[in-house]
Amino acid sequence: PTAEERERLGAIELDSVSFAYEDSPVLKDISLTIPAGSTVAIVGKTGSGKSTLVKLLARHYDPTEGAIRVEGIDLRQLPQRQLRSELGVVPQEPFLFSMTIGQNIRFGLDALQFDESLTRRAPTAALIEGLLEGGERELTQEERIAQAVEIAALDADLENFEQGLDTLVGERGVTLSGGQKQRTTIARALLTDPRILILDDALASVDTQTERRILDQLKALMYGRTSIHITHRFNALSRVDRIFVLDEGRLVEEGTHAELCQRGGLYAEMYARQKLREQLES
Ligand code: ADP
Repeated sequence: PTAEERERLGAIELDSVSFAYEDSPVLKDISLTIPAGSTVAIVGKTGSGKSTLVKLLARHYDPTEGAIRVEGIDLRQLPQRQLRSELGVVPQEPFLFSMTIGQNIRFGLDALQFDESLTRRAPTAALIEGLLEGGERELTQEERIAQAVEIAALDADLENFEQGLDTLVGERGVTLSGGQKQRTTIARALLTDPRILILDDALASVDTQTERRILDQLKALMYGRTSIHITHRFNALSRVDRIFVLDEGRLVEEGTHAELCQRGGLYAEMYARQKLREQLES
């Protein structure tokens, strides 16, 4: 891509976006820019409009007023097929098919004619560490697959890795924990290499330490691409480039974790409250 194209790759712009289900306004005059290649978070209390925003980005609905542009193109003008190939959404409630974990991760790849054998190989610990320390660069497909597979099996014994991937889940198989399901679905989304990845509270069931590690891995994996984390947990947010705070459907604050903490507004208040609650629980 040319420098100009690269600047736009995966960039998202909301221009005075409002949205109402029936008559009740849910998003109110939101304008924001998510730069290409950045990792951002959208936070806010339950009911503030985060999931609705995701639904607009995925075009389940169109804005009642205003426009959403991806790479400079109005979403309404973007062919559905193109949007589907550029956008990966990991939903709050992961959906796994009654097949093996490996098949679940590879699901959607066959059509893209990926080399299936790559997803059957256990990534070595050295490869993963090398990637995390490797700094910013494009990953090869093999590295991408190794990373994604490792996210799905973060706590699995790597020696038994292949067996882990062959574990049958669903009705006739084992029951995965909420966090395991979420990681498997994230890995699936990552393998399709979307330009834009949206995690809709998709890390809510993993512990904080794992969340931090996954965010670091996502950064390497999504190099040059855009990722959007919808979350109500703040622990890992010093790792994202920019945070947008929604309150009752309005964008009330934006900035980095440090900036927002210093400002002492809604974000700082929610963060302090969450920290206190965690201290009381531990
Ligand atoms: P969040 O993800 O921040 O919890 P949501 O986007 O789910 O917020 O919800 C924002 C508001 O929109 C809430 O008041 C919710 O009740 C309302 N809402 C969400 N989905 C629908 C729907 N399908 N029909 C009508 N109202 C909805």
